[in-house]
Amino acid sequence: LQLTLAVIKPDAVAHPLIVEALHQKILAHKFIIVKSKDLVWRKQDSEKFYAEHEGRFFYQRLVEFMSSGPMRAYILAREDAIGYWRELMGPTKVYRARYSSPNTIRAQYGLTDTRNTTHGSDSVESAQREIAFFFPEFHVQ
Ligand code: ATP
Ligand code: MG
Repeated sequence: LQLTLAVIKPDAVAHPLIVEALHQKILAHKFIIVKSKDLVWRKQDSEKFYAEHEGRFFYQRLVEFMSSGPMRAYILAREDAIGYWRELMGPTKVYRARYSSPNTIRAQYGLTDTRNTTHGSDSVESAQREIAFFFPEFHVQ
């Protein structure tokens, strides 16, 4: 089974019904929840996690947003977990998600291109890095 890191971002965690709906969606799509935790980032955590986007026009707003309140992180296991979760999330940009894939998470719950409800790793390498970032105590044998 493949592992991915999925995060429910602060815009969604602010709404308990959305968190519950997303949790049920994870279960309905037969992911195994390997680990989960609720956490809050300091600004420096946010900057470090999104260092690849430093200098982009949305970087400051992204960093502020991701350290603005609690998040829920999951290590999810499933066949093709990385691609499958990203399919469920839909496109990064909410207007594009609403237009092209209205049944996706971001189309249904996203507020703006920054406050877009969820994160998912985009490759095996980033899944490894991101799982270690969120769950430093977790080790794959
Ligand atoms: P994520 O990494 O959060 O799963 P993603 O891989 O779909 O999302 P990235 O390109 O990695 O998208 O961007 C990381 C995050 O930065 C996005 O999820 C979004 O919150 C924010 N972001 C990306 N592009 C834009 C943009 N054009 N305008 C505003 N915010 C953006
Ligand atoms: Mg990304």
